[in-house]
Amino acid sequence: MNYSDFDLGMTTKITRRDLLQDAGLISLGLGITPSAAAATTLGADHTSYPPTRTGLRGSHPGSFEGAHAYARDGLPHPKPQPLDEAFDLVIVGAGISGLAAAYYYQKRFGVDRKILILDNHDDFGGHAKRNEFHQGGRLQLAIGGTHNLEYWQFSETVSALMQTLGIDIPKLRQQTDFNYGRNGAKGRAIWFDAETYGVNKLVTGCSLKGPPSSSPLPYLDQFPISTTAKTELRAFYKRQTDVLAHLSSAERADYLHTTGYFDFLESKGGLGAEARQLFKTACHGSWGLETACLSVAEALDDGLPGLNLIGETAAESDWDYPVGIFPDGNASIARLLVQRLIPSIAPGVTADTIATTDFDYSQLDRPQNAVQIRLQSTVIDVAHQKGAVHLTYLFGGKAFALKAKQCVMACYHSVIPYICPTLPAAQKAAQRYQVKYPLLLTNVLIRSRAPFTELGIDGAACPGRLHSALFLMNGVETGGYAQASDDPGPVPVTFWGSLSPPDGIENFWDKLRASRTRMLNLTLEDYEREVRSVLQDLLGPAGFSAKRDILAITVNRWPHGYSHEYLDLWDPKWEEGQAPHEIARQRFGNITFANADAGASAYTHTAIEEAARAVAELGAQGLH
Ligand SMILES: Cc1cc2nc3c(=O)[nH]c(=O)nc-3n(C[C@H](O)[C@H](O)[C@H](O)COP(=O)(O)OP(=O)(O)OC[C@H]3O[C@@H](n4cnc5c(N)ncnc54)[C@H](O)[C@@H]3O)c2cc1C
Repeated sequence: MNYSDFDLGMTTKITRRDLLQDAGLISLGLGITPSAAAATTLGADHTSYPPTRTGLRGSHPGSFEGAHAYARDGLPHPKPQPLDEAFDLVIVGAGISGLAAAYYYQKRFGVDRKILILDNHDDFGGHAKRNEFHQGGRLQLAIGGTHNLEYWQFSETVSALMQTLGIDIPKLRQQTDFNYGRNGAKGRAIWFDAETYGVNKLVTGCSLKGPPSSSPLPYLDQFPISTTAKTELRAFYKRQTDVLAHLSSAERADYLHTTGYFDFLESKGGLGAEARQLFKTACHGSWGLETACLSVAEALDDGLPGLNLIGETAAESDWDYPVGIFPDGNASIARLLVQRLIPSIAPGVTADTIATTDFDYSQLDRPQNAVQIRLQSTVIDVAHQKGAVHLTYLFGGKAFALKAKQCVMACYHSVIPYICPTLPAAQKAAQRYQVKYPLLLTNVLIRSRAPFTELGIDGAACPGRLHSALFLMNGVETGGYAQASDDPGPVPVTFWGSLSPPDGIENFWDKLRASRTRMLNLTLEDYEREVRSVLQDLLGPAGFSAKRDILAITVNRWPHGYSHEYLDLWDPKWEEGQAPHEIARQRFGNITFANADAGASAYTHTAIEEAARAVAELGAQGLH
């Protein structure tokens, strides 16, 4: 439905304002040092406290423009002011990988080593982003980025770090009944919106991907799509065959890995464009990609339908996904790491109390501490010269230069060629290859879950909308924080997905770039209007009013989201040691390379493993 801004509550006063880069603005022209500015402005009160900031977060305004202008677009660097600071190690990027690198460095070389971590955001953690809401009268936490701990994939290195941080995954599991909505009791629902499908229609009981018991087959009559599309889908879901029976096992594997899933749906599944559209964005959350970019094997592995056409079946248990999760996701991991590096930031905090403990951000960048974390600081130049590493970074519109004995680049790799121009050409080409997949995670605090309860859902796929899914963020009662699934009070609704590129772009890398551009070009009002309209249309029949019942909105944009994992349809098969990430992460003088990109794998545990490797690769030279 077309609502006026007034109807949607766009003119209602809620917390959605972007706090500008206070520290940057304050320091501009005042001649004070970055660490002093950060200390004066980032106190632990709830007006300037970074996790409470709403509006555009993730890549927030002010965090990326410097890198784009000076590093990417080649604007001549301002003359840097040399800083009289000496560090053993400078780490570029305060994501999980950068923070873990500081931990491993201390472990290897001693806790008295001087470490500086620089990050362009106003909060640490990178993708491990904590969204706090207080507008409902008490603390409500939501995930702003990475959140699942997929512990069954942990290496010994990662498990050991979890143990050091006091993270007990079985205990996290016991205290959680949040299930992403995917196989939770009320998670099976598809919401068709009027703008795309002509009528608003909620169909409960089925999913577009998931276990056999969530098949849409018994529900197809309710779908607001043409009779032709329904007939095609009915035949597709009902058919039990093996369309590849004539192929040898090698040919079969080749087909599954070299054929696009959408081609398969069309040629083997008999689905026309209208029926295929239903699945267009179904992998936005899990892959950050259009489903059409995936091979048959990748899409089936992600739970999309079609196993019945290749003579295979799935068990219900294949969809079990028993992750460990904190109420603010892996921001708790980032916070535990920061507390270990700078204990005075939250004295005595443990994994049991981390979720509810305020951090004193004024402790982050104190010269008397062994580890300093300097936020809102965008590195624009890094060079290895005569056994030392020279760095230039921007803070508050000014450039500062400093020197360290060694450096770990824990930022995403595609920016590195711009800021380390002296790297070998082949290494820079390999780093440029790592174009990340964009992700979007918008949290909306609503007054009560009652409308969801009345509709009998706790989440829904939204195949026609900007965000491809939404779910209630509750049922995680870990880390000293309680937000029961049946709590009647305010609750965050998480809108989850990526952004489709404009139609007509064929090249995979161009699609990613177009999605990213679209993500950065949409305004806060665009995102706000979208989530308000969706909630009004979906929940309005259950008494929800967007004007009355929305308390706060936080949009986490991640234009550089998931690391590029090699894809069947788009990447060659690399020889051992020749894959771009293996070339990209080779040590260069006293500079080594971490970040999940270094493992070509979009996981928190990869970010940790790559940090351990990057620190192990640092030579002992230059340390004394
Ligand atoms: C929305 C989302 C959900 C995810 N969910 C999961 C999940 O559930 N489970 C999982 O295991 N993984 C998940 N991931 C993958 C996630 O990327 C990794 O888990 C991990 O957090 C990556 O950490 P990192 O330190 O390698 O990179 P990042 O978190 O990206 O940290 C790198 C930091 O370096 C900064 N930086 C870049 N350039 C500069 C510069 N020039 N100067 C200074 N700083 C710079 C960046 O801005 C960033 O803050 C998710 C990712 C996203 C985006």
